Amino acid sequence: MTEGADAITDGATPPGSFTLDSRLSGALGGRTAQAFERGFGHRTVGDLLAHYPRRYAMRGELTALATLPLDENITIIAEVIEVGERSMRARRGSIVEAKITDGTGVLTLTFFNQRWRAADLRPGRRGIFAGKVSDYKGQRQLAHPDYELFDDAAPLEAGDAAAKRWAEAPIPIYPATGTLASWQIAKAVELVLDGLAPLDDPLPLSVRQSQSLLAHRDALELVHRPERDGDWKSARRTLRFTEAFVLQTALLARRAELRTHATAARLPVAGGLLERFDAAMPFTLTGDQLEVGAEIAHDLGEPVPMNRLVQGEVGSGKTVVALRAMLAVADSGGQSALLAPTEVLAGQHLRSIAKMLGPDLAAELMPTLITGQLPLAERKKALLRAAAGQSRIVVGTHALLGETVSFADLGLVVVDEQHRFGVEQREALRLKGRNPPHVLVLTATPIPRTVAMTVFGDLDVSTIRELPAGRAGITSQVVPLAIRPAWRPRIWERLAEELAQGRQAFVVCPAIEPKVLEEGAAAEAAVAEAGSGGNAPTDAAAPVASVAAVLAELLAHPRFAETRVAPLHGRMSADEKDATMRAFAAGELDVLVATTVIEVGVDVPNASAMVVVDADRFGVSQLHQLRGRVGRGSVPGICLLVTSAVPGSLALQRVEAVAATLDGFDLAQADLELRQEGDVLGATQSGGRSSLKLLKVARDGDLIAEARELAHDVLASGGGLADHPALAAAVRRRLDEETSGYLSKG
Ligand code: ADP
Ligand code: MG
Repeated sequence: MTEGADAITDGATPPGSFTLDSRLSGALGGRTAQAFERGFGHRTVGDLLAHYPRRYAMRGELTALATLPLDENITIIAEVIEVGERSMRARRGSIVEAKITDGTGVLTLTFFNQRWRAADLRPGRRGIFAGKVSDYKGQRQLAHPDYELFDDAAPLEAGDAAAKRWAEAPIPIYPATGTLASWQIAKAVELVLDGLAPLDDPLPLSVRQSQSLLAHRDALELVHRPERDGDWKSARRTLRFTEAFVLQTALLARRAELRTHATAARLPVAGGLLERFDAAMPFTLTGDQLEVGAEIAHDLGEPVPMNRLVQGEVGSGKTVVALRAMLAVADSGGQSALLAPTEVLAGQHLRSIAKMLGPDLAAELMPTLITGQLPLAERKKALLRAAAGQSRIVVGTHALLGETVSFADLGLVVVDEQHRFGVEQREALRLKGRNPPHVLVLTATPIPRTVAMTVFGDLDVSTIRELPAGRAGITSQVVPLAIRPAWRPRIWERLAEELAQGRQAFVVCPAIEPKVLEEGAAAEAAVAEAGSGGNAPTDAAAPVASVAAVLAELLAHPRFAETRVAPLHGRMSADEKDATMRAFAAGELDVLVATTVIEVGVDVPNASAMVVVDADRFGVSQLHQLRGRVGRGSVPGICLLVTSAVPGSLALQRVEAVAATLDGFDLAQADLELRQEGDVLGATQSGGRSSLKLLKVARDGDLIAEARELAHDVLASGGGLADHPALAAAVRRRLDEETSGYLSKG
């Protein structure tokens, strides 16, 4: 086929000539294909066919014009009511102006020097219009829009039945760009569908039948060219399940693939390092720690590399569990590397590991820090210790991945906080071992089961839910000012009561100064609003409590005349922050008025109270993390979540959800449900090649679980994936996409 856009118009495509892997340039012509690649990253026929309509419109139903957003590409259905032409005053030339309506609102279309448009846009004609809405002298208009008028004559001639069918056929509205309008995409899709060779179904027949799904080809046909509403609905059901099934097959296949590499089993020895550590441990492990520990020990004892994620909240005792795994590896003569996301956290890990080991074990295992900031001489020494195998535990940041770092016998890699750690980095470390090392990923972010299955489906997941005994716990209470304004003075009274008992407290605000949001708060608030599905939790223009304002209020309050209060926020220098934190930890300050900077690394057992002002400005998980700062010692904590969110708003529901449970996992699930749509996976889910298309982890949990089970059965029976070439091809496509996609960020 020749290059160029001509293929779209000449209709000469030989039927049955494309497969899903065919290049788009061969199917559409080079220029059109380029537009799809630039606009959406599509390269193949399969990519284009997986560009599903965002919604479906009906010819009979017009789009409400009053609510259209300004300056965004929109696609609407409307009717022409008026068209006129005038010449321009200042320059030579003419303007065609047409008005279109949805029956109430009116939008003006303008075209410069295109007189023929006046004949085209006859009043009474309906069509689909696309462009950016702008405001011109108080009038909403579309300048130089693209449009396609419905061909109202043809079906009427073809008879009533055809006319009815035409009127009922849903019109697919595609995610479009400024250069590719929805109907241009529809045309390209049609062309590709017409030329598609017979397709083998990615779903094995038994799976398709058990789920009562359509053949893949039919599903593609009906999602893009439905004749009635039911068509695209059943098509989407099939495609959604297929997406879940292919993804789960891919993840399970990758998990199986990782297990085909042989490695050394790491078994603790009798009377060895692990046993000595356990004997000296000042506490008994919780049931969950024991269970997870046993799962890890089992994995380490196998001659295939472990790939396990351990999730548990801050303070749930993950580090101890990971350290015990390192000791088992040390018993076998191997080394472990612990990777932390920042230098500070790496340093903290090293210190707490050395402390937990105690002087004797520490001397034997020689825990060593390797970071980029280490002075050269120290770094050299550390590198030598790692390379010679003297140091059995090496702690560091990404610097550990550098070429200069080598190990004598790397047996285990522990990755702290998976969110900032990619597959490539894990891979780089993996290659540093003689054998592929076992991998343990720790995360303090509770992940609902279905998200874990979707995002980390190639890892085995262990969960520590139970917190070590001896924590006094926290009472959380919502102070809903919109409903109970009279409670306002009680907030500071309650705080004063805590302080009177010799305790310390945090007051957390979303902003630093009246107009300056703390970074994290701004981001979370944005997420919260995005997740609210248009039901904005807070009025973005409403004033937000700030550190400066609340500090002033407390300083002027008679109840706090004797109280030592100080601010803490991200605009202070690192030294100032440090000094403030140290003074607070030493009991020289009573109250910190802070932003979310206190989220990380603060551990003051005497801090018992927290007041979060404008709590609805924070994300659910952020509130939960913040609250974890009080009630850490033997003193019971109290957390007041103050909000002005109105009754029934999603904002208030989110705050109430936090107050209702201390269980991070329940909360993560509640958060997922309140967010409704899929921003759980981050921005990448909203578009691009490698994102989820029809699947929503929040809604489709059961479907994902079912797909995973069926995928497991298919892989386990007969010749596995080899028995299902079409599924294997779909899996390969999925994994190809992921090399640059969100799953790799796992
Ligand atoms: P995480 O890494 O999950 O945040 P850590 O392993 O750092 O948690 O444990 C937090 C604190 O609790 C540490 O001081 C640790 O020594 C202590 N700890 C861990 N497990 C227990 C337990 N079973 N009983 C009592 N204290 C524990
Ligand atoms: Mg920890």
